[in-house]
Order: sequence, then C-alpha cells, then structure tokens
Amino acid sequence: MKIVKPGSTIGIIGGGQLGRMMALSAKAMGYRIAVLDPTPDAPCGQVADQVITAPFDDYEACKQLALMSDVLTYEFENIDEQASAQLSQISDFPQGYEVLATTQHRLKEKEALEQLDIQVAPFASITKLEDIANAIVVTGLPAILKTCRGGYDGKGQAVVKTAEEVEAACQVLLNHGELVLERLIPFECEISVLATKSRHGDVEIFPVAENEHKESVLHRTIVPARIDTAIEEEAKRIALRIVEGLNVVGTLAVEMFVTKEGTILVNELAPRPHNSGHYTIEACKVSQFEQHIRAVCGLPLRKPTLLSPCVMENVLGEQVTPLMERLGELQHVSLHLYGKKEAKEKRKMGHLTVLEENTATCIQALDAFWEKKTKVLEEME
Ligand code: ATP
Ligand code: MG
Repeated sequence: MKIVKPGSTIGIIGGGQLGRMMALSAKAMGYRIAVLDPTPDAPCGQVADQVITAPFDDYEACKQLALMSDVLTYEFENIDEQASAQLSQISDFPQGYEVLATTQHRLKEKEALEQLDIQVAPFASITKLEDIANAIVVTGLPAILKTCRGGYDGKGQAVVKTAEEVEAACQVLLNHGELVLERLIPFECEISVLATKSRHGDVEIFPVAENEHKESVLHRTIVPARIDTAIEEEAKRIALRIVEGLNVVGTLAVEMFVTKEGTILVNELAPRPHNSGHYTIEACKVSQFEQHIRAVCGLPLRKPTLLSPCVMENVLGEQVTPLMERLGELQHVSLHLYGKKEAKEKRKMGHLTVLEENTATCIQALDAFWEKKTKVLEEME
C-alpha cells in the first residue's frame, strides 16, 4: 500500500484559503508544499515552500508543479480538463480526473447523482432560448437559473419567477455557456456532509453541518445540525453512496436541502474540503484538511468525532475593519484570517469558530461579539 511519507512534497493546484489550510495541516505533519496559483502572494503561497505563479490552464506550469511534487491535489474543481487529464498520466494524482470532470459541470453532476438514485431538484438544460419553454414545464416556477460551469457564492445564478424573467436571465447568462434551470426548493434548512475516502479505500464521514446563507454566501455553519436523527443518518448514507459511486478520493462536500416533509435533495458537490467544514479544525478530532491530506497520502483516516457543539461564521470583506476593532473581545472566538490583502465586499477573508455548551450558547457568543462591534461602529459615526 502506497504511503507518501512526511518529508515529501505535496503539490496543490489552487492557492486560496482552502489550499492554505490544507498546507498548514500538511506542514504540521512534516510535509513540504508546492503550490500553483495565478495570483502572486496568494493565501496558500504565503505558507508554501515553493510557489509557481501561472494560470491553471498553463500546462507547462502544471507539469513543473508535478515535477517538484511527490503527490498532487487541488483546492478547487475548475481545473482545465486537458491539463488535469495529462497530469494524472505524469504524476501521482490519486484523486484522478474523472470526479473533476463531473463536478465542474452542473448538468453532468446532476445526471451522475440521478444515476446513483439520489434525488435532486427537477432540472433541465438550456443551451438556447428555444429550450426555455420545455425547461419550465420540467421545473415549474419559481426556479433558479445557473451557469453549468464556473459559479460560486451564487455568482452566475438568477432566481426567476416568470417566463419573461427566465428569458431575460438567459439572454445574459447564455453568454457564459450552457445553463441549467432548477426548481426553487422551499427548503426547511440546508445541510452539508463532508466525506473522505482514502486512496486505499477507507471512508470516514464528518458530522452533518447545518448551513445558513446570506445572499447566496455561506454565513454560518451550525454543528450538530438541528435535524432529526433519521435525516442525519440518511444524509450520511447519501454522502457515502456518492463517494463510493463516483469513486472519490480525498474529501468531498455534499450540499443538501432538507424539505418540510423530511426529504433530502442534493444541491451540489465539491470534490475538496469545503467552507462548511471549517468548523472541523477546532471541533473534531481531525480536521477536514488533515483528513484530506491523510487520504491523498495514504495514511490511515481518523474518526472525525465531534468534540463540542460549535458555530462557524465567515468573515467577509466588509467585516474586516469592524473585526479589527474587536480583537480585544476574541476571548471566546477562534480567529482565522487568510492573508488576503484586498478586503472586497463579500470576499471571504477569514472565519470565526466558537465552541460552547450548546448551539444556543455558541450563537449567543457570536452575536455578543458582533453586537459590540455594532456599538463601536455607531461610536465611530
Ligand atoms: P457555492 O459554490 O458557494 O456553494 P454556488 O454558487 O455554486 O455556491 P449553489 O450552491 O448552487 O451555488 O447555490 C447557492 C445557494 O443558493 C444555495 O446554498 C441555496 O441557498 C440557494 N439555492 C441554490 N439552488 C437552489 C434551489 N434549487 N432551490 C432553493 N435554493 C437554492
Ligand atoms: Mg453551493
């Protein structure tokens, strides 16, 4: 059984915060890190041993990364198809290319899920304006229109309530390629499950997380999720079926909607550590990042037991200044910042995690932290 030993170099494609936190875990275990990212001084580059600054579709740069690495992984799924297919031929790329090809295209992803008998919101493909009428028959209205490729944090999406709105949104979004129209699900709550499969086949599943979004961006993750045990078990079974069925290696996030009736619909997949798994750094016996590194390096996975109820909150660009004013109030809050220089609005700059007796006290601790912030802002005005 192959083990990539500490001291070896792990190459990470993508230098954002997920790569940074992966790298920090890997470095704690004694690995070296090489990273490829188009932006100089990217979050992961700041903690890596070697940095290649080049676009992701620069095959020569990918090859250079492969040559300096003993094993390759990635922190985001939108890697050029050809580059990653070739990488898997020249280097140790245990996650392979196929899961990427499925998860970087919403329609392929939904079809793959249906083949595994996993329920998703009714959906239809739109490649031209003439497809709209039939698509609406399938999804009904209101619906949500999404680009098949490249979307994140709700970018490339539009909620549409009438046929006219669908057409107007298609006029704009069709410039970005194929679209998928989905029924808008009036969900009770959103949850996610992170599952990790090692290159040797063993699987571990993290506790189910409950996710609150604000304007399509993850705001808070609450663990344990406030759902029935039966739903929790079903959510874990779904995640297991996906990692096995799609032959995933590494950590995979499954985003799901839970309806009032207790039905689970899978929203989307991310074949990598995920924002909704940041809570695992403090609250589980092993973090999603360490587990991912273990999986791709062939070390045994650990049981990701939950150590305490917790809530994670994202820190967006507009919150950085108020946060900096509150550093003296961080007694009950773990602070993570990703080293991004420009605090643009809605940009994920860092996150906060609180571990308390129960969910209510976790939320209270975060609310108390920000309430004081509001006061400071008022004083400043
Ligand atoms: P990210 O990659 O940041 O998770 P994304 O841009 O890929 O986001 P989605 O996860 O598809 O987009 O959607 C973002 C959010 O929009 C969801 O978390 C959910 O709150 C809402 N949403 C998406 N699709 C639907 C749907 N079919 N019904 C109801 N709400 C939806
Ligand atoms: Mg999502």
